Amino acid sequence: RKNSFSINIDIESEVAPLHEAIESFKGYQWKAGPIVNGVLYTEAQQLDEPESDITSQTITAPYDRSIEVGSVLFSTPQLIENALLNAQQHFLEWDTTDVSVRAQCLYNLADLLEKNMPELVALCHHEAGKTIHDCIDEVREAVDFCRYYAQQATDMLDNNEANVSFDNIIQQVTHQGKGVFVCISPWNFPLAIFLGQITAALVMGNTVIAKPAEQTSLIAARAVEFMLEAGFDDQSIHLLTGNGAEIGNALTSDDRIAGVVFTGSTNTAQVINRSLAKRDVLPATFIAETGGQNAMIVDSTALPEQVVRDVIRSAFASAGQRCSALRVLFIQQDIAPRVIELIQGAMDELSVGLPYLHSTDVGPVIDKTAKDKLTNHIKKMTEQHKLLAQVSLSESCQKGDFIAPTAVEIDNLSQLTEEQFGPILHVIRYKASQLEEVINQINGCGFGLTMGIHSRNESTYTHIAKASRVGNCYINRDQVGAVVGVQPFGGQGLSGTGPKAGGPRYLQRFSKQVVTVDVE
Ligand code: GLU
Repeated sequence: RKNSFSINIDIESEVAPLHEAIESFKGYQWKAGPIVNGVLYTEAQQLDEPESDITSQTITAPYDRSIEVGSVLFSTPQLIENALLNAQQHFLEWDTTDVSVRAQCLYNLADLLEKNMPELVALCHHEAGKTIHDCIDEVREAVDFCRYYAQQATDMLDNNEANVSFDNIIQQVTHQGKGVFVCISPWNFPLAIFLGQITAALVMGNTVIAKPAEQTSLIAARAVEFMLEAGFDDQSIHLLTGNGAEIGNALTSDDRIAGVVFTGSTNTAQVINRSLAKRDVLPATFIAETGGQNAMIVDSTALPEQVVRDVIRSAFASAGQRCSALRVLFIQQDIAPRVIELIQGAMDELSVGLPYLHSTDVGPVIDKTAKDKLTNHIKKMTEQHKLLAQVSLSESCQKGDFIAPTAVEIDNLSQLTEEQFGPILHVIRYKASQLEEVINQINGCGFGLTMGIHSRNESTYTHIAKASRVGNCYINRDQVGAVVGVQPFGGQGLSGTGPKAGGPRYLQRFSKQVVTVDVE
């Protein structure tokens, strides 16, 4: 029997054993809460506070709000303080632990994630509403982050560069961690990005306080439990569940924080930046990976069938809830009728529904707030512009937060003011003579995350790629699903500060260099 990692997730019979294992978690109630100094708090009685000051939240499945998945206890101010204090006090000890010990914890964690794939897939599916395919990818990506960063850190810290100067003096360059890192992660990759941030910070010697997205605290707490089992000591990693703005503000305004890693909206990144800047200490390291207004340019030499396959995946996979997802498709006028017709046909074939079913292409969006925002946008767009296609929602979507994948035609990019984080595709036709204008419009919107180009004309795609101010540019393929270690991921401008996650430069930002000059 194949293990979870060698199965081909496109073949139903290969996924079947995993489905069965996942099925065994049906009806299971997960319990989560803050984890401070290795203690998981799930019950109010564990806290030394009046009951009225304690908050907890019931988590329901995005695909069916009548299904309860678990409950989350919120962090109290006392626990936030305990996490800060312990993370700070423990930093030197963790930082001076040999890198091989820290890297081993990451390798152990990767093994544990693989071993517990069914539970993690089930949890990710029930809590975040992701399709089974996406959940499997999610666990695989988390595993990749662990192994990649473990390897990178070992290479970097074990091979301290030594420069011998002309007078035979040896200057040694070594690395040290920076201190306490706050990791603030999103709900759209509740395991992969959550663990990617944390493992990067930890393996470089920093201690970590993680604040998961409110919508996906269950899987975050489970992941931290696996971390403790993997050997990370309990003062090096703390988890604070609860209200995002409150905890985020308490942490980022604290002088004891050396760095923040954040993935989420551009607005929140700006709030964090201001909070860090108000402190009475020098600026902290701030790594932010934020939104995008990602475009694809399709010229008249492109292969329509290939374009359509890549457009559908880029715009609608994961219900469009990837920051890399395609939002604006520019099609050269001559080829537009054919491509649009094919997109309409392909959208007709999309199956939107219960993310558990192997046949489902598009699952729900994360919550009612997201659904309302996207619904309003679709309403506005279809009132003012031309609706090209909209998938019809089946009966099974009634109980959850579903958005029908939608394509609308607009005239230019300025008609979109903000990122719409869902399955909505905007299409703009352009004339061959307007190509430069199109590139300028895209560059001018301020974001710069992903870009797709479809063209068989080498000089055209080379020119567009060179002129684009984006972090990840994909030619003649889809523009989502960057692979750890192969396609470092992250944007420019309003899309992020860099360095790119899953890339060879990422870990450097989590450490300081020390030069030792030895005259002997
Ligand atoms: N790395 C993901 C991708 O390439 C996107 C990450 C995100 O949505 O934050 O699709």
